[in-house]
Amino acid sequence: MKNMLLNPITNLKGVGSETEEVLNDVGIYTIHDLLEYFPYRYEDNSLKDLEDVKHEERVTVEGRVHSEPSLQFYGKKRSRLTFRLLVGRYLLSVVCFNRPYFKNKLSIDATVTVTGKWDKHRQTITVSNLLFGPKQEISGIEPVYSVKGKLTVKGIRKFVSIALKDYLEGVTELLPDHLLNKYKLMTRKEALKTIHIPEEKEDLKQARRRFVYEEFLLFQLKMQTLRKVQREQSKGVVHQFSKEKHKIFLDSLPFPLTNAQTRVVNEILSDMTSPYRMNRLLQGDVGSGKTVVSAIAIYAAFLSGYQSALMVPTEILAEQHAESLFQLFEPFGVSVALLTSSVKGKKRRDLLERVANNEVNLLIGTHALIQDDIMFHKLGLVITDEQHRFGVEQRRLLREKGEQTDVLFMTATPIPRTLAITAFGEMDVSIIDELPAGRKTIETYWVKPDMLERILAFIEKEVSKGRQAYVICPLIEESDKLDVQNALDVHGMLTQYYRGRYKVGLMHGRLSSDEKDEVMRSFSQNEVHILVSTTVVEVGVNVPNATTMVIYDAERFGLSQLHQLRGRVGRGSDQSYCILLADPKSETGKERMKIMTETNDGFVLSERDLELRGPGDFFGKKQSGVPVFKVADMVHDYRALEVARQDAVELVGSMEFWKENQYEALRNYLTNSGVLDGEKLD
Ligand code: ADP
Ligand code: MG
Repeated sequence: MKNMLLNPITNLKGVGSETEEVLNDVGIYTIHDLLEYFPYRYEDNSLKDLEDVKHEERVTVEGRVHSEPSLQFYGKKRSRLTFRLLVGRYLLSVVCFNRPYFKNKLSIDATVTVTGKWDKHRQTITVSNLLFGPKQEISGIEPVYSVKGKLTVKGIRKFVSIALKDYLEGVTELLPDHLLNKYKLMTRKEALKTIHIPEEKEDLKQARRRFVYEEFLLFQLKMQTLRKVQREQSKGVVHQFSKEKHKIFLDSLPFPLTNAQTRVVNEILSDMTSPYRMNRLLQGDVGSGKTVVSAIAIYAAFLSGYQSALMVPTEILAEQHAESLFQLFEPFGVSVALLTSSVKGKKRRDLLERVANNEVNLLIGTHALIQDDIMFHKLGLVITDEQHRFGVEQRRLLREKGEQTDVLFMTATPIPRTLAITAFGEMDVSIIDELPAGRKTIETYWVKPDMLERILAFIEKEVSKGRQAYVICPLIEESDKLDVQNALDVHGMLTQYYRGRYKVGLMHGRLSSDEKDEVMRSFSQNEVHILVSTTVVEVGVNVPNATTMVIYDAERFGLSQLHQLRGRVGRGSDQSYCILLADPKSETGKERMKIMTETNDGFVLSERDLELRGPGDFFGKKQSGVPVFKVADMVHDYRALEVARQDAVELVGSMEFWKENQYEALRNYLTNSGVLDGEKLD
């Protein structure tokens, strides 16, 4: 039976070679393809109370003709027929264009069913379809398919109904009974029939629910299988180290770990000590303390005799990490080195030699780290910070640096969980969902640009207390095309304004790394009080004494970027502030500003961002790896996604799944989609 579904579409009654071509054009080659060609929307032709119908909405009503129809002609062919129709307690007008022959068929008191656009103000329906007699007892919900060329919606409806009649019996159930029962899902046959020819709205909902779950489950099964195969085939370094020595390091930290930190540390260490390769994504909001987590992992690798590499997206961040990790590791004999693009010539050669000789235990750097000439002696752990800033390709190269190297990706851009488990579905995910105690909420305000005077005064008030401020501009210098603030002008303006009182620094991507170093150094030592900058300070930069963040033209930034920028303040114990200077024109722009003022929680924010932007846009560009679902919607159906993922994890982890008959259809699916070679997992 199953094979019959894979027969070419010409096997279907009424489909000849001409129709075959137009069907091929929309990707339908087999009967199976046709049955899986779902409507993208439905037209609701069921009767409704006019009270509930919106202006200009399409509606179907049944009523009695209440007045003699009047007919007017314009020119030869164009005409307009009007009559009054009594629908329940409504008396409304009906207009039919260019159908003069209706006149003689409409007699007073006759029952008719009309479909058309409802003009609420004029109480008029403009007819697209008129039926003489009461509403037929057929389904009021009609499927609309996407069509192209000669293909019509009516045509597809016809073919689908033939296919359902002749082939539905051959459709196999993919889901095992216990899952169907657990979620009270329609069978695949029932759901297929309903999605094409729904009788009731409720049925349609149920059919959709079944396919949403199926789609998510299949996708998650692929991901979980891939993960299992990858894991079992990728032998990793087994890090063996003295727990006592490791504990001494933990005890030396200036603060106790949060519960969330402790949990993710355990997850990471258990990966590192396992014989499999770690492939883990660590998510934690800005300021949640990922650096120390990475340090703990690096120290474990060090104790077990391996080198580590820490890769970050900007030189500023590399330097900052190098500095803080150097301090942390100094007493423990871990040698830390920094490799950036400004390390050149002999200095670079010397450093690479030390790396190759195992004299460097931790190498920190930007993407310079993945260049070919860097050879490690024994690389056991690779960590990338703010990993969303690296492309997929860079991530791959990095993973290939050491064959069995454990890999940890850290990101402070909270990825909505739904996306994390789809785009990174084959990775293990750890989440730090807790901030260190005592953190204050950053008070966030959205103000119009004409409030500048007051903001300058506000900055002054904070700076006079010994605090510091950032002022972020979208551009470095003036642009003819864009009417936005640039860092050079703002720097000039602020220098003038605070002259003789406070020092204003300037930071942007065109400074040399020496210049950048100098700016950052003077800012972190409070020699510069106000730092005007482009978004180069966006990630990671840590100056706890800075309490005010002003962002010019904030509407030009995405939510996650604004959140990152805001995360530069609120890093110490003082109350911090974020001021968004913006005058957004679009609704989503306004919405973004509002969301920023409403929450400090990166995960909440990222979920809202996903809603505003949609999954395709969330990561920007094509790299996203976010799959396209046919029925399911990751944003709205996220609960189903979570559930399906959990089920997939359990299935793939169970012995029964790989053996029992009831899972055969799912196993076949995995084999056909190439994630499973059939034999490998036995
Ligand atoms: P992020 O996750 O954004 O990279 P960091 O690692 O830079 O965060 O940590 C932010 C700040 O919080 C740092 O100053 C760090 O020393 C501090 N910190 C980290 N963990 C804790 C903790 N458990 N208790 C108190 N402070 C902590
Ligand atoms: Mg960080």
